Amino acid sequence: MKRTPGEISKMTERFEGAIRRAGIKLTPQRIAIYREVARTADHPDIETVFRNVRRKLPSVSLDTVYRTLGLFADLGLVMTVRPLGYRLRFDANTSPHHHFVCTRCGATLDFEYREFDTLRIPAAASALGRVESRHVEFRGLCASCAPGPARSKGKSAKRTNGTRSHRP
Ligand SMILES: [Zn+2]
Ligand SMILES: [Zn+2]
Repeated sequence: MKRTPGEISKMTERFEGAIRRAGIKLTPQRIAIYREVARTADHPDIETVFRNVRRKLPSVSLDTVYRTLGLFADLGLVMTVRPLGYRLRFDANTSPHHHFVCTRCGATLDFEYREFDTLRIPAAASALGRVESRHVEFRGLCASCAPGPARSKGKSAKRTNGTRSHRP
């Protein structure tokens, strides 16, 4: 899911301001790495960011991308998500949101829901430590992995036939 050029430049502007305020040098490499994460809502992993940044900046190393994304995460400029069984992914959407993770293809999709942002913290959780953020993750099959309504209908019909096909 691509973001519009307007969205990307707005995010990049915010990013550049935050980097300057943190007293960190704003290098073309850092901007390119951030823009690569912000370019889509796909929550790319390090390898993907590296592969795409290298096309524009051939001298960039995987280690640099790794360290730079770690720095951005420390500054709160990107968030990290690790869907079950998948590699660590980076998220340039730092406003409160939640995820739908596809258990088949690993697609990590954003959704917003105010009620989850303000979820009441149960005593059982606050007893474990100080809660700093809330994140709800739904798991299931994304629209491209789940069979469509027409297809599932066809499938169940086939299954009915299947039981009958045991007869000679
Ligand atoms: Zn999927
Ligand atoms: Zn997200």
